[in-house]
Amino acid sequence: MEEKSKDYQKKYRKKNKQKIKKYREEHKEYFKRKNIEWNKKNPNYNKDWREKNRIDIRRKRREWTKGNEGRVVEYTKNWRKKNPEKLKVNSNGNKKYPIKNKCEWCGSTYRLQRHHPDYSRPEYVITLCAYCHTKTYNNEKGGKTKCLVANQKTKKKKQ
Ligand SMILES: [Zn+2]
Repeated sequence: MEEKSKDYQKKYRKKNKQKIKKYREEHKEYFKRKNIEWNKKNPNYNKDWREKNRIDIRRKRREWTKGNEGRVVEYTKNWRKKNPEKLKVNSNGNKKYPIKNKCEWCGSTYRLQRHHPDYSRPEYVITLCAYCHTKTYNNEKGGKTKCLVANQKTKKKKQ
């Protein structure tokens, strides 16, 4: 795309922010479908983009948090209310369960974290790197998150 028209689009989007927002809101299903299709065609685009703009993303997030402390507090409060079992596992006794020295999915040794596939069994801990950890949950249709590791386990049992 030509620089000039790119610039023009940027200005247009800024000027008509509310209008665009409203339009997107009215055609939510359409954009959602388009987005899914596009992601299927370009599976690595988001990952590559995040990788390229890592520092920028971090800075922007920090700036956003600075202006939205109230919202962050509100979100944390809601999360705690919705996930009492996770809070319990993560706050007491998380460290009690040892972590392995590499990711059980990809073998990476960088930024290892504890993953709890089943919060009713806090002693059941899987060691995952931060990258694989974000991949363990997928959004189901109702917006509910589901653990992929737990899924794999139940599938294996059935065989
Ligand atoms: Zn990994």
